[in-house]
Amino acid sequence: MPPSNIVEGPRVATWHCPSCRESVPRLLPNGSANRVTLPPERTMLPDDDIRAACERVQGLRAPEVCYACDQAFQELLGTLVRPPAEEGDARGEPGLNDTGVVGALVPLAERGTQLLIFNVIAGELRCTEIEYLTDFDPDRLTYPGSRGAIAPRIWELYERHLAELHAGSDSPL
Ligand SMILES: [Zn+2]
Repeated sequence: MPPSNIVEGPRVATWHCPSCRESVPRLLPNGSANRVTLPPERTMLPDDDIRAACERVQGLRAPEVCYACDQAFQELLGTLVRPPAEEGDARGEPGLNDTGVVGALVPLAERGTQLLIFNVIAGELRCTEIEYLTDFDPDRLTYPGSRGAIAPRIWELYERHLAELHAGSDSPL
């Protein structure tokens, strides 16, 4: 029994987000729905090689994710990453041509989100790693200037994505 001077608040039903695989509230505290429909530009960089790699990922796509997952997608998509085995502070090393980019996030129904990392190998953009979003080590995220050399193709994708983000933030909602 709650004390008589408080009113029991409304209960918010939960749903299962296919991306983080958590049981999350259906509504956000501001009352809007905690389900975000993902248009392609929020899940992959606009590039034919990246699109082709996404199409090769097997599994039913989840059309909606929770708000927190959508925010994580926006932070990760187009971000530069360093190789998984690299230890210590990347800034202490000479420039290497092994910086990759998060090219796509593919939310799979009931299986979680797969994160696709791309690198340039022999001049071609290739998907070099696929891992579950929940297993990805955020310490691998990096920034231009902290790693030295970046393959031109990766740099182009990164710059174009940034330009699109900036263009989008200036437009009226
Ligand atoms: Zn989620």
